[in-house]
Amino acid sequence: MSADLPIYLDYAATTPLDPRVAEAMIECLQDRALQGNPSSMGHAYGRLARARIEQARAQVAAAIGARPECIVWTSGATESNNLALFGAARFNADRGRHIVSSRTEHKAVLDPLKQLEREGFSVTYLKPNADGIVTPEQVQEALRPDTQLVSLMHVNNEIGVIQDIGAVGRICREKGILFHVDAAQSIGKVPVDVEEMCIDLLSVTAHKSYGPKGIGALYIRRTPPVGLRPLLFGGGQELGLRSGTLPTPQIVGMGLAFEIAERERAADVARITRLRERLWAGLSTLDGVELNGHPERRVCSVLNVSFHGVEGESLLYALGNIAVSAGSACASASETPSYVLRALGRSDEVAQSSLRFSLGRFTTEEEIDAAIAVVRREVERLRALAPAGRAE
Ligand SMILES: *Cc1c(COP(=O)(O)O)cnc(C)c1O
Repeated sequence: MSADLPIYLDYAATTPLDPRVAEAMIECLQDRALQGNPSSMGHAYGRLARARIEQARAQVAAAIGARPECIVWTSGATESNNLALFGAARFNADRGRHIVSSRTEHKAVLDPLKQLEREGFSVTYLKPNADGIVTPEQVQEALRPDTQLVSLMHVNNEIGVIQDIGAVGRICREKGILFHVDAAQSIGKVPVDVEEMCIDLLSVTAHKSYGPKGIGALYIRRTPPVGLRPLLFGGGQELGLRSGTLPTPQIVGMGLAFEIAERERAADVARITRLRERLWAGLSTLDGVELNGHPERRVCSVLNVSFHGVEGESLLYALGNIAVSAGSACASASETPSYVLRALGRSDEVAQSSLRFSLGRFTTEEEIDAAIAVVRREVERLRALAPAGRAE
């Protein structure tokens, strides 16, 4: 990485492309034989592109324990969530208009749910405990005779907490209620098995797992089949569920990224966990520092920390040579404190004094040590500047 670029500790917002993925995509972009329309099965150009797409479909399916025919390509987890939620809710509206979800979901789930409320659906947003956990019992208790869908994320993008998806899945399966999971943050970090976890709909995206931006997938259970109302109409690609010409290089990149993520998961998790522990050891000896999210049920890569008495945005600015986020990438553009930390019961002030450090495949020990030194120096400097009484 170029010397004047900041240290990248924002992997939960997006990951850099793995060089092996970049190489496969470049090869695909440059190969004239792969530039046909994958829907043009009448000639070799189309069929060659189609073969690569089906290979990638099998790679993505294998990473989540699914059969390839259950995978539908989308533009990313935002679109997958929209297709799953609108698609299922509208298709099954006559079975019931109640949906159960949680307050700490990504905006790409919360905003479609808000829209469904405007369309006459009612949504229960479960409140997690102070550690960010939503219990299977809470889900069970929220179910009503008219509940048709439960949507719960696997790994939280702001605090890294892992929900007990399998237990919730079994409850839903037993009651015949559809279960959607946003697993955008999971692939390569936490095992995902749609069969074992009784998942009907699962959203994934390439760019959180070292693949390209702008490509994702929705897993749709086929036995028994889950009915969905499409969002896009047109050429009828992807069994009519998602019309539009498929982007062969993006799809090839996602397939390889998911294959690598799954194959190297154990080694990646072990190395990243050690680095996260090193970072926490370096930060937690500062006064007034608090870890957000469950201490054990968490992904290896995320450390969300409150620095009491320090304004998060000021700290973010002071940490010019470290690329981190205050809250999620999407929420930090606005001034409001993180709704995820607020849902955990943190005050506005504490939520506003929090930063998310997220590590990944390319993070080094040197980067962690440099980050610790800068954060310690800047937190102490900002606290010394703070008006008396605000420092604690
Ligand atoms: C990043 C993310 C999304 C959105 O994914 P895109 O592919 O960027 O649309 C949705 N949910 C979670 C949990 C995420 O982390």
